[in-house]
Amino acid sequence: MKTLILGGTREAREIAHIASGERGFDIISSLAGRVRDPLLPEGPVRIGGFGGGEGLRKWLVDNEIAGVIDATHPFAGTISANAAGAAADLGLPILHVRRTGWSEQPGDRWIRVPDLDAAVQEVAQLGERVFLTIGRQGVAAFAGLTRQWFLIRAIDPPTGALPPHHELLLARGPFSPADEQRLMARHGIDVLVTKDSGGDQTAAKLDAARSAGLPVVVVDRPELPPGAVVVETVDAAWTWLRAIASR
Ligand code: NAP
Repeated sequence: MKTLILGGTREAREIAHIASGERGFDIISSLAGRVRDPLLPEGPVRIGGFGGGEGLRKWLVDNEIAGVIDATHPFAGTISANAAGAAADLGLPILHVRRTGWSEQPGDRWIRVPDLDAAVQEVAQLGERVFLTIGRQGVAAFAGLTRQWFLIRAIDPPTGALPPHHELLLARGPFSPADEQRLMARHGIDVLVTKDSGGDQTAAKLDAARSAGLPVVVVDRPELPPGAVVVETVDAAWTWLRAIASR
């Protein structure tokens, strides 16, 4: 069963790892190629965009793919929509793996917003020293905030415009709550901005913000296409793949 795993996440690497050790599964993982030094999954990997939905459809046909697992990051909305469209066109089974989102706990001061533009509006009202942890992409949305100072954390440097007052911190999780607390205190952070990425690799910042009583602007996930089959765990994805293969 030749399966494409759209990756760039720990879940995608774990699924590739499991399937690589099993007979009868022919896996190829795909990465966008955004990160300079990516963590590579086990088994064959291709890197780079497909050239939109049409390019992906052609690639699936040319490579005789029989099923697709979209295990991309919850905020990678374009590739998920392209994959859903291409799979529907070709009549291929497709599964979307979306780890559980974060949920508010007692003591949290969260402001949920639908997108980055709304996050910018909130930040403009909420604080002066902002910890921006939305990854490399999307930082430019905050470039017009000229009064605030930003601590911008990402794995690789952001490309577009940056807010005029900032410090760039290049780092990859996991991070510990104690380290996050120290980092926020050292920089006098008064508001945290995050995507609702979910998972435990980067959740410590939320614990630290709760302990310090700081407001957190949480950007909601983009919707998956209607009718998408979604699971939250690697185990559930593996169960799905085995069921599809035994059809
Ligand atoms: P996106 O906005 O959904 O995708 C933009 C374009 O990048 C797609 O149209 C596609 O190009 C290409 N692409 C994305 N994922 C790909 C993949 N796995 N294999 C091949 N091409 C891919 O995605 P994004 O937000 O830029 O994220 C890019 C990658 O980084 C994803 O694979 C995601 O899992 C990973 N990632 C994203 C985030 C985040 O916060 N967005 C965080 C951690 C990891 P074509 O149209 O040319 O096919």
